[in-house]
Amino acid sequence: MSQVPSNPDVVVIGAGAAGIGAGIGLLRHGVSFAIVEAKQRVGGRAYSESSSLGHLWDQGCHWFHTADRNVLRAIADKIGHGYRKEPYEGGFKAFQDGRWEDVSVDDAYVWTMLEHIAAEGAKADVSAESLLDRSHPGYSAIRHWCQLMQSHDPEDISAKDVNSYLDTHINLAVRDGYGALVARLANGLPIRLDTAARRIAVTGSGVAVETDAGTLRAAACIVAVPARMMERERIAFAPGLPPALQDAFSNVPMGHCEKVAVAFDAPVLSELGVGYADVLEDKAAGLPPLNIEVHPFGRPILVAHMGGSAVAEMTPEDRLDLFGRAVTRAFGADVSRRITHRTTTSWTADPFINGAYSCAKPGKAHLRAVFDEPVHDRVFLAGEHVHRYFHATAHGAYETGLAAAARAARLLGRPVLADEPEWLPPNHL
Ligand SMILES: Cc1cc2nc3c(=O)[nH]c(=O)nc-3n(C[C@H](O)[C@H](O)[C@H](O)COP(=O)(O)OP(=O)(O)OC[C@H]3O[C@@H](n4cnc5c(N)ncnc54)[C@H](O)[C@@H]3O)c2cc1C
Repeated sequence: MSQVPSNPDVVVIGAGAAGIGAGIGLLRHGVSFAIVEAKQRVGGRAYSESSSLGHLWDQGCHWFHTADRNVLRAIADKIGHGYRKEPYEGGFKAFQDGRWEDVSVDDAYVWTMLEHIAAEGAKADVSAESLLDRSHPGYSAIRHWCQLMQSHDPEDISAKDVNSYLDTHINLAVRDGYGALVARLANGLPIRLDTAARRIAVTGSGVAVETDAGTLRAAACIVAVPARMMERERIAFAPGLPPALQDAFSNVPMGHCEKVAVAFDAPVLSELGVGYADVLEDKAAGLPPLNIEVHPFGRPILVAHMGGSAVAEMTPEDRLDLFGRAVTRAFGADVSRRITHRTTTSWTADPFINGAYSCAKPGKAHLRAVFDEPVHDRVFLAGEHVHRYFHATAHGAYETGLAAAARAARLLGRPVLADEPEWLPPNHL
């Protein structure tokens, strides 16, 4: 990190992908800035670590979604940050009715229905649930995938918002860590960690941002905190937030998604021969469906995802117990006994995140556009929730940071440069 200026032109709040994108955009425009970050680390929902499992894994974002249109994938190429070049290397298997199947009928149904929801969303802003058949044998699997992809239950998902997402179906896992990539981009930026912003006062000539470490005055502010922080008014605004924006935060809320992961003493599941395993629902055992990444990049770990409202009700112990039972059921007690480490994320419980990612409620997809509007002329929002077609992603968040930086530069009267999203300062990394 570099020296944080005491009188910056712009204050950026939050050092996730969006805040870091904003910082790099401001650097490119020659605008002085300070980033304040509440946590003791950068990256926000982009967080790679190896201490909990003894192997590198990502607690938050892990895939370059829409990788052929993904600015962070392009930056990874530029700076030599490793990722898988082929989607779904290793293929799928599903555990169903007590045995493994190479091709699961429910998988085919899931992908058909996900396409159906997106296609119907082009016609009407209905709920995803209204497009599903509850009596179909694949219902629990499609429900589970909706919960993973949107972090909400299907009844709370706007099909139109799903439709607005630009998906080229190329999703590439980041070998060297997605969080580690975002942290690399933060290198050298003026970031003050462990410093939460508490209040933003806007006047005709500038902003005063009250933080845990005093007040920063600037001409403009970029607010790059999770949507839930704004919905719950964790940062006070004077004057208050416009009602249209409050309405948008209530109706395009963050849902819930957590990961559970275990490590073994060695890659015990190599003979399964797949990269991804669906362990489908077992009603009798009270187990919901789980999608598990098996030994990513040869690491002896399993990573499972759970999403939707039920996840918010579960304690970390509940999640670990549920996953442990699924591992025993699908892979056997001998495999379970070789587990050496277990861990789970706590995104919903995290006081500065409070959820997973945003999705509009049925009938409310149009409100996402409100996030794009300046607040009291001098405050610009950035973050995954702001992007019109890459919402819920890290690369989308980064792009909104770049866009907010260009707007702040314009407000300051600086010439706005043509877009160059992959730009990095010389010697930055
Ligand atoms: C489990 C999970 C899996 C995911 N998988 C993927 C994936 O595979 N691919 C993908 O592209 N995306 C994925 N995502 C989504 C992606 O991680 C997010 O969309 C993206 O990282 C959000 O970036 P952001 O900058 O908008 O917000 P954040 O990363 O949340 O950053 C916001 C920052 O603001 C800080 N902050 C909050 N309040 C304050 C305050 N008052 N003052 C100062 N700082 C504050 C926070 O501490 C945080 O660091 C996943 C998310 C989750 C939770």
